[in-house]
Amino acid sequence: MQGYLIRGLPVIKEGDDIASLVQALFELQDGDVLCLASTIVAKSEGRSRNLEGYRPSPRAAAIASALGKDPGFVQAVLDESAEVLLDRPFLLVVTRFGHICVNAGIDQSNVGDGRILLLPENPGESAAALRARLDKDCAVIITDTCGRPFRCGVAGLAIGWAGLAALKDWRGERDMHGKVLEITLEAIVDEIAGMANLLMGEAGEGTPAVVFRGLKYPCTGGSVFMPKNKDVIRPRLKS
Ligand code: GDP
Ligand code: MN
Ligand code: MN
Repeated sequence: MQGYLIRGLPVIKEGDDIASLVQALFELQDGDVLCLASTIVAKSEGRSRNLEGYRPSPRAAAIASALGKDPGFVQAVLDESAEVLLDRPFLLVVTRFGHICVNAGIDQSNVGDGRILLLPENPGESAAALRARLDKDCAVIITDTCGRPFRCGVAGLAIGWAGLAALKDWRGERDMHGKVLEITLEAIVDEIAGMANLLMGEAGEGTPAVVFRGLKYPCTGGSVFMPKNKDVIRPRLKS
């Protein structure tokens, strides 16, 4: 397996054709997995906003004052959320596309002064559209750096994917002693996203695209977003 960090992408603006920009810098091959930071996908989709454009509701204002945050920022988080799971000590929400994260994944870094960057509206659809614009048959993963419950430190997770399975199903395979595996579903898109995110960096590196070559992956199946009715932790967050 090889991993390639693509260098030379510009600062992405609304309307930029990321598939073309990437393919001009890197010769993709069939079977490659192209990982893109959500930041650039969001920028190309015009998801940058001016904080002053938000009119905070009384609820947003109350949360903002309790958290010591900008009320416009809190309104932006609420607008992007289907459900708020925690409103202190930070805003933990379910985004409209089903990803649970702090502040609805809205970034204030790598965006520009006074502006915020929302996540792509539907990263799964973004991944599929990007994949369709590639000249080769590749999988696409859109990554974001996220905090994780129970663990210190942020890591890259997949928030959208196309052309590969989110989960690899090991059920029915045998272990070294011949015992049949019964429950193992492996979140391969997150594992790939983690390594991609490590290579991308978090600051001014300017390297939001990574390609993995030679990974064997199943093509369809599953989602890493836990269905609400199967999540045993989520109901316990409501106090
Ligand atoms: P996130 O993890 O999706 O929130 O993205 P980050 O803000 O952590 O950025 C990941 C990588 O992409 C870093 O190397 C950034 O420097 C780079 N990056 C962010 N925006 C741009 C951009 O518009 N153009 C380029 N070339 N790199 C960018
Ligand atoms: Mn981010
Ligand atoms: Mn990041």
